[in-house]
Amino acid sequence: MVKETTFYDILGVKPGCSPDDLKKAYRKLALKYHPDKNPNEGEKFKQISQAYEVLCDPEKKRIYDEGGEQALKEGGTGGGFTSPMDLFEMFFGGGGGLGGGRGRRRERKGKDVFHQISVTLEELYNGAVRKLALQKNVICDKCEGRGGKKGAVEQCPTCNGSGYQVEVQQIGPGMIQQIQSVCLDCRGAGERINPKDRCKNCQGRKTIRDRKILEVHVDKGMAHGQKITFYGEGDQEPEMEAGDIVILIDEKVHPVYRRSGNDLIMRMNIELIESLCGFQKVIRTLDNRDLVITAIPGEVTKHGDVKCIMNEGMPQYRNPTEKGRLVVQFLVDFPPMLPPEVIPALENCLPPRPEIIIPDGAEECTLVSLDPEEEATKRQQKNVYDEDDDPQERGGQRVQCATS
Ligand SMILES: [Zn+2]
Ligand SMILES: [Zn+2]
Repeated sequence: MVKETTFYDILGVKPGCSPDDLKKAYRKLALKYHPDKNPNEGEKFKQISQAYEVLCDPEKKRIYDEGGEQALKEGGTGGGFTSPMDLFEMFFGGGGGLGGGRGRRRERKGKDVFHQISVTLEELYNGAVRKLALQKNVICDKCEGRGGKKGAVEQCPTCNGSGYQVEVQQIGPGMIQQIQSVCLDCRGAGERINPKDRCKNCQGRKTIRDRKILEVHVDKGMAHGQKITFYGEGDQEPEMEAGDIVILIDEKVHPVYRRSGNDLIMRMNIELIESLCGFQKVIRTLDNRDLVITAIPGEVTKHGDVKCIMNEGMPQYRNPTEKGRLVVQFLVDFPPMLPPEVIPALENCLPPRPEIIIPDGAEECTLVSLDPEEEATKRQQKNVYDEDDDPQERGGQRVQCATS
């Protein structure tokens, strides 16, 4: 009977477990809660470290089993602990942090995997949780990434452990050529697993494909192109730190709003009467509230006028109570024609036309409609034509003309 089980509980093992089980438990948890992966779980990482440090030491374990944590503190060991990071490095054979760039482990990191998720502007405004199902390689749990039974790894008999095969060819009298190629039997590893000891679960591949569901938290105010990183969730490979899964936000085009930083921009069409005599309009927000805007009678809204509502734009990322502006650009729909009989009434209420003096002999002209868009297309076509033309040659001809 042990006095307390706290340290065992922290590591998720039973008091009677073997030193091997302890190591496995520590290995798994220390990797999971390492500050490089889980910066907010520093306390947990420390607890795991301390629990392992006590339980892996037969003397400390005996004291703990008999008298609990209190006995350790009072006992001759002084109750001191190695720093969690030092313990981690000792356990994993030096090299330092998982991603700190301090040592070898950093170089042995798998590739990062990128995924894109399409997100609506509503989701970026309100925040959303998206589930993403993906396939990834995980270390085979049956063989713990060895690919076979313990001790089943043997030197590759084909290449004698070198990883290379050398082929000697006679290419002429007295001339030989040596061709070195990667050993096909062990793919250059120099070792192999005896087929009869191969792990049935992974067929000796050391990893298996697994389906993983990631919960992606799209925070309020996130932007197009922003990355959400899941550290260490990439493909696993033996003796290699897993890469990250990086989710890229892809903002869908919205039918009403366009985003510019934290401002939301929309266009609003109004009738001529609204432009001249005032109006009320309702704007539906991205969180489905209705905003009423009013131009009081007498207030003229011109075609192209831009106005804004403060604090009704996109929420600021990580400070979502602060919002940008909702910018409205007004476009006035003019009537295509007016019945001539209403003109006098209009003339009565609008400011008078300016007086105009027509000089003697002025010429009478006709106004023809012109479509600016059509003009632009024409100009573009002309430019393309000009580029095809060789300016050098044209210039030369001109010079010739001038001299002759
Ligand atoms: Zn396996
Ligand atoms: Zn080989």
